[in-house]
Amino acid sequence: VSSSDVLIVGCGPVGAVLAALLGRRGVTVTVVERELDVFPLPRAAHIDHMGLRALQEIGCLDHLLPDMRPNQGLDFVTAGGDLLVRIPGDQRSISGLPASMYFHQPGFDRAIREAAAALPSVTIQTGTDFCSLTQDADGVAVVVASDGAERTLRASWVVGCDGARSSVRTALGTEMEDLHFSEPWLVLDLVLEPSAPALSEGAIHTCDPSRPVMAIPMPGRRYRFEVMLLPGEDPEIMTDLDVVESILSTWLPPGSAQIERRAVYEFQGLVAAEWRSGRVLIAGDAAHQMPPMLGQGMCSGIRDATNLAWKLDHVIRGRASDSLLDTYTVERRPHVRGIVQAAVDFGRLVCTLDPAEAAARDERMLHATTPPTERWPFRLPLLEPGPLVLEGGGNLFIQPEVGAGQRRLDDIVGGRFLVLAQSARGFGTSAPWWREHVGALVTTIDELPDPSGAVRRWLERKRVACVIVRPDRYLLAATDNLDAVTETVRPVLSVPTRTAQP
Ligand SMILES: Cc1cc2nc3c(=O)[nH]c(=O)nc-3n(C[C@H](O)[C@H](O)[C@H](O)COP(=O)(O)OP(=O)(O)OC[C@H]3O[C@@H](n4cnc5c(N)ncnc54)[C@H](O)[C@@H]3O)c2cc1C
Repeated sequence: VSSSDVLIVGCGPVGAVLAALLGRRGVTVTVVERELDVFPLPRAAHIDHMGLRALQEIGCLDHLLPDMRPNQGLDFVTAGGDLLVRIPGDQRSISGLPASMYFHQPGFDRAIREAAAALPSVTIQTGTDFCSLTQDADGVAVVVASDGAERTLRASWVVGCDGARSSVRTALGTEMEDLHFSEPWLVLDLVLEPSAPALSEGAIHTCDPSRPVMAIPMPGRRYRFEVMLLPGEDPEIMTDLDVVESILSTWLPPGSAQIERRAVYEFQGLVAAEWRSGRVLIAGDAAHQMPPMLGQGMCSGIRDATNLAWKLDHVIRGRASDSLLDTYTVERRPHVRGIVQAAVDFGRLVCTLDPAEAAARDERMLHATTPPTERWPFRLPLLEPGPLVLEGGGNLFIQPEVGAGQRRLDDIVGGRFLVLAQSARGFGTSAPWWREHVGALVTTIDELPDPSGAVRRWLERKRVACVIVRPDRYLLAATDNLDAVTETVRPVLSVPTRTAQP
């Protein structure tokens, strides 16, 4: 029976990113994927700077970025086109990367899958269906099927990245918390002909009670319309070509676009109660689903992967006990729940079908004194305080360009912790533990060339001697007392030494 450290079920974007993050750390990974190739049509279209930062870590960013399209901002407008709310998209991001971009998913999925497959410790088995799993004290036996034949694979850990209908989640036996949003939408992916009239360069969600519509510019000549189905409308009839063409005729004359896809999706808000049971975990759509109004479903799944990858690595290397993996649900679940709730709230804003309610909403919002960007701001949540989020922690650390070759900071740090101090005094007596036990990059600002001065200015502004940045780029702490922080996190980041039995 072949065996690996981690078996990932599902090679969608989340499974592929997780495989690449683990593979780069030398963890042996087997990915089983039911389909033979990447899904040929886009679902996700938008990626935020944290997602881009994960692509940077797996070596895909500079290849994928030139084909992406900057997000100029997302407008929520009335039926008459008046601006209710704007979520800016082109602001500077803390990650030193564009805040928000649109991409074409098939090429994106292929690039990350290839990046994972190129790593010597990663094997991707396509055309292979997950059937069942059994846990024992040493690992997990996973039955898979390919070409009609079943076989068993073994792994120390299994991660279900097998999407909304996850069989791994079913095997885990967890409940889904329902945030009570369930609306059917028709998704139309188009390739515009050169003759097509100019459409909006920015995304527009039209909160028209007679038919809510979202218009999303994608890279190149691609464009997406998402159209809400009204009560009683039959998905089968609504995906009929004649019906679709008649809907599209509102914006595009006949013949000015090829329709690549017409499909109805039920937009929902769901979060799994438990993300881990023993040696089995879930990530991505297997753990949460949200309406796509904020373009955060896949982005959240990628954050699951960045959170989980370093923790699995530490446990597998024997640097931490498996209780470290309990912090995965503790950190990720409230974070993603906040985003699902925000997506549901924006979903309700868009999906108001009662004309009187919509008119009252428009009246109220249009007469608000706050500007549209502040009326209903959406910001990514911080990580809540917890075992690995202490004083000054919970936000992302900045990523300036540092070093003689103007490399990005994350590229210098790699997949490690970063312990960075204004001067060696800031380390107290803890530097050896971080360096030798945790495998951190422990450095002072002077040792880390910082030509723009951004890191020094950051530390001075926060008035702290030292920061600890986790491998997922979140701050663990910003502190004047590294020794105290070290004592607090030592039990979580180490394997307890057994006291000898008498
Ligand atoms: C219309 C629409 C628009 C969206 N827009 C955005 C957006 O702009 N930005 C954003 O961030 N998100 C967006 N999303 C959400 C995003 O598409 C999902 O969150 C994302 O695809 C989830 O990735 P995943 O890897 O978790 O799951 P999936 O992409 O569903 O991948 C799961 C994989 O597991 C495989 N699999 C399933 N079962 C098995 C099995 N038993 N054995 C083996 N393999 C299996 C599947 O074949 C698949 O390849 C959108 C979604 C929709 C529907």
